[in-house]
Amino acid sequence: MRRLYISFALLLSVLTAEAQYGIRVWKDGKSVLFPIANIDSIRFVRPVTDIYFSDDVVELKEGETRQLTFSVLPVDADTKGLTWSSSTPSVASVDAQGFVTAVSIGTSLITVVATDDSGVKAECQVTVKRLCPDDHHPHVIDLGLPSGTKWCCCNVGASTPEGYGGYYAWGETSEKSAYNWDAYAYYNKDTGYVNIGSDIAGTSYDVATVLMGAPWRMPSAELLLEFVNYCSRQWTMLNGVNGILVTGLNGAQIFLPAAGYQWIDDLEGASTYGYYWSSSLYPSHDGKAYGLYIGPIEWYWSNKASRGCGRSVRAVCGD
Ligand SMILES: [Zn+2]
Repeated sequence: MRRLYISFALLLSVLTAEAQYGIRVWKDGKSVLFPIANIDSIRFVRPVTDIYFSDDVVELKEGETRQLTFSVLPVDADTKGLTWSSSTPSVASVDAQGFVTAVSIGTSLITVVATDDSGVKAECQVTVKRLCPDDHHPHVIDLGLPSGTKWCCCNVGASTPEGYGGYYAWGETSEKSAYNWDAYAYYNKDTGYVNIGSDIAGTSYDVATVLMGAPWRMPSAELLLEFVNYCSRQWTMLNGVNGILVTGLNGAQIFLPAAGYQWIDDLEGASTYGYYWSSSLYPSHDGKAYGLYIGPIEWYWSNKASRGCGRSVRAVCGD
């Protein structure tokens, strides 16, 4: 019994001594001791040290929804939970993934805070402006291009900038239920493609001129080249429709919806990419014409396709 009593006393003294040890941490500028007896486990974490936006100031167009581009450092931070908020949701609202929707004209501060108690945050000032001068589309938009060419704010057949509008085979001026060689007005099974000219801009084969009236016309391949070379593009969403916001040399902007294309009786690729006809025949193949491709990653003017495809048209006017 005596030996057992001594052992118990020793054990008790050891436990008491251990309980006096602890881990001292800095919290809110003060040193705080956490006794070991109160700690079940210790895990070393790498907190967020910085959040930054690619752009501290962003301009969106009314109706636009775009995810703000940001980075969280270090890249291997243990917690990357983020909380988003807007100072004025009636101007620009933000969701849990950082998608900002431009609701009305004005300015709002978007704030993102790390949820790992690091307190790290970042702010982005979002300014919301109108895309077009008013709602009476179509508008003539001067993008400040060297040729003096002005671009329309809407697709042919659309009443809003985000509207898909019509799909037209090259040289045809109305829509139809099926798009293929048999249904193409300028293809003959025996003699092949009918020559309607190497540049149909402003002619009776130009759907922009026919449906919208002169001086609206289809852009030539050269004008598509100028458009792509001198303007910048941003993949975005306008009133729920994916597409690109194109910014001209003078800062003016137009939106091109990713309307896909029509082949046989199917609409392909809508909301993912878009094709826009030029007025120019592809010289190496009389069954093809040049067009503009737009997508999330890139755009290029030299896309060409079978003239029988149903594609979008964006009209131009001016020099
Ligand atoms: Zn407009």
